[in-house]
Amino acid sequence: MRFYACFAEGVVKLLDLKKLLDGSVDSVEFSVSLDECDFIEDSVSASATASGIITNHSGLILLEGSVKPNISAVCARCGKEFVYNESIALEAKIADKLANKDEDEFILMVDSAIDIEDLVRSALILELPSRYLCRDDCKGLCAKCGCDLNETACSCDTEDRDPRWDVLKDYFSE
Ligand SMILES: [Zn+2]
Ligand SMILES: [Zn+2]
Repeated sequence: MRFYACFAEGVVKLLDLKKLLDGSVDSVEFSVSLDECDFIEDSVSASATASGIITNHSGLILLEGSVKPNISAVCARCGKEFVYNESIALEAKIADKLANKDEDEFILMVDSAIDIEDLVRSALILELPSRYLCRDDCKGLCAKCGCDLNETACSCDTEDRDPRWDVLKDYFSE
C-alpha cells in the first residue's frame, strides 16, 4: 500500500512518515517543486522539481528519486544563456533517531517527518556543476577579437608565446 504526498505551495515541505514507521504503509511517494531557487549560483533564473519514493525495508528507510533542475545559466566560456536541466539522482538513508548511527550517512527525522525541500536544495547545491558550459566542447570566445569560436573561425594568433623562443627562432633563421 502506498501513500502519495503532494505539497501545497508556500508551506514548509515536511513529509510525515508516521504511517511508514508504524507499518501501516510500506512506501510513501512524494513530489515537490521549488519555484525560485535563488541559492543556485551563476543562474539567471532557476527552478526545480523532484519526485521519488521512500520505502521501509524492514527498518531501513530509503529514499530514492530524482531532481530535475530547470536553470537558465550563462556559459562560462562563451557567455551565451542556455537551459541546464540534467537530472540529479536523489538517494538518502533516513533514520528516526541516531542511536549508533553515523550522522553523515543518515538524514534525521524530526517528529517522524523530513523536510523534503531542504533535501532537494542540498542535492542541488552539492551536485550542480561549479560552472556551466553550454556544451562540453564549447570553444568560447576569441581572446583577441571576441568572436564566438563556436560559430566563426577567426584568424587571430592567440597562441601564448614565450618571447624567449623568439630569440632562438632568430638564431635558427640566421
Ligand atoms: Zn558556451
Ligand atoms: Zn579572433
